[in-house]
Amino acid sequence: MPNRRPHRLRAPLAGAACALLAGLPGACSGPPPADLILRGGAVHTMDPSNPRAEALAVRDGRIVSVGDDEAVGAFSGPATEIIELDGRMVLPGFHDTHVHPVSGGIELGECDLNGAETRQDVVRLVSQCALRDPEAPWVRGGGFQLPIFPGGAPSRELLDSLVPDRPAYLTSADGHSAWVNTRALALAGVSVRTPDPPPDGVIVRDAEGRPAGTLREAAMSLVARHLPDHTDAEIEAGLRRGLAMAAELGITTLHEASASEAYARAYATAEREGWLTARAIVALRVDPDRGVGQVGDLVAIRERHLGRLARPVAAKIFLDGVIEGGTAALLEPYLDRPGWSGALNFDPDTLQALVAALDDAGFTVHVHAIGDRAIRVGLDAFEAQRRRDGGAGPRHVMAHIQLFDPADVPRFAELDVVASFQPLWFYADTYITDLTEPRLGPERSRWLYPARSVAESGALVVAGSDWSVSSMDPVRAIEVALTRRSPDAVDGPSWIPAERLDLQTMLAAYTSSAALAAGLDGETGSLRVGRSADLVVLDTHLAEVPPERISEAKVDLTVFEGRIVHRR
Ligand SMILES: [Zn+2]
Repeated sequence: MPNRRPHRLRAPLAGAACALLAGLPGACSGPPPADLILRGGAVHTMDPSNPRAEALAVRDGRIVSVGDDEAVGAFSGPATEIIELDGRMVLPGFHDTHVHPVSGGIELGECDLNGAETRQDVVRLVSQCALRDPEAPWVRGGGFQLPIFPGGAPSRELLDSLVPDRPAYLTSADGHSAWVNTRALALAGVSVRTPDPPPDGVIVRDAEGRPAGTLREAAMSLVARHLPDHTDAEIEAGLRRGLAMAAELGITTLHEASASEAYARAYATAEREGWLTARAIVALRVDPDRGVGQVGDLVAIRERHLGRLARPVAAKIFLDGVIEGGTAALLEPYLDRPGWSGALNFDPDTLQALVAALDDAGFTVHVHAIGDRAIRVGLDAFEAQRRRDGGAGPRHVMAHIQLFDPADVPRFAELDVVASFQPLWFYADTYITDLTEPRLGPERSRWLYPARSVAESGALVVAGSDWSVSSMDPVRAIEVALTRRSPDAVDGPSWIPAERLDLQTMLAAYTSSAALAAGLDGETGSLRVGRSADLVVLDTHLAEVPPERISEAKVDLTVFEGRIVHRR
């Protein structure tokens, strides 16, 4: 028999259904009918007590039955929508645990360089942007790939030739560099005399010391602070684009990785107006210049915008930069810059005080850490916090976690710190071969993204895209985690093959582990009776194709709280 639960609220409707069906034997003896049934499929529940099923039924946004076709069929009524799965795979909806739906969505509406694969593509797209809206005071946008340009540093002369009449500000896909023209530099007063801003800002310069057109990290804000603020309407439009992409890719829970109050407000608006098609853990950005004094402000923002689905309950700390830009904080110097090992955005004592204050205030701390020094200092702060409160506070997260000292691998499990990887980065693209490995040498490069070592140490491993830094598509990332090869390659050597993960770990990373990490496991992340009906139907059974074909899988259907939010 299907798992019966009390249905007091639905009793009158069930009675109405009985009246409609009067005369049919047995019509009134079954459970109240479901709104939606999916049947005849390969349902991977991610529930260890009931791992496989054929069908499931949904009523009022909740799963009311998971089992074989016959058992679930008992929930069928005259108004039930039936979806025939024809053997297709069903999974809990994906969780993207580190993504920028708002800024990425805004970028899509501006000068969008994400599709550019060559320098010529960039040139063509920027010229088009300049022509498209000649009245706009700035040409702004981003998404270009750093390795397209020598040294990851495009020149202002090139941008001057494309946008001669107005300031232009274009960010790199990783968000850690900006390409600006001469007008933008002049407007911001950035000149040969401007020092690199602390702690990590870099003004790339020509042989005479003049700004050459690329700004990194803190130096970006020298120009960015002159950009007009995005309006609430632009922010909401960005969120709509980001949510539409998430729904298409089967994502029903997302962790907004860097939010201002205006972003948190947009999520709250989306929930109130009914167009929030994923639940959202929103991480409010911590200002490195403001210390613990800002925690009260973050609490106030949380209180103003806390919803049932959109929850600004996390705080984002950018601890360092990126290796490609030479701004990640390393334990040993960069090989191409003797004596330089990057810089932390927070000194360790300030970081510990902030983690303590945020933890006490009930925030999940979400730390961006790339270099092995940033990872160590971040873990030290979490360790200090555990010593204070025995781990009574929220579970904290470290994202990106690119370069490890092997001694720190087991600390994620020991300290119950969530390891948030971006698996689409686990292969040797030009960021790795041209801008990373040469700066580290082979011995340290072995410890780039040691995902399997971290997983086998017992850490809770979750996954995210960091879109718009890279594609939001979970199946592409799952494939790369299994192959450590480009998702577009079908053979060839794996990059650090000892760190390949298995499919079950990756499915959990995108579903049940992610839900557990965020304390949402009572609500979503697995397909069982009583949970929210957040699920995805794929056209391909991921376990039945070779790993190098996983990225070809398409999302046929995305269901969020029982509502179909995407149908291919
Ligand atoms: Zn990010």
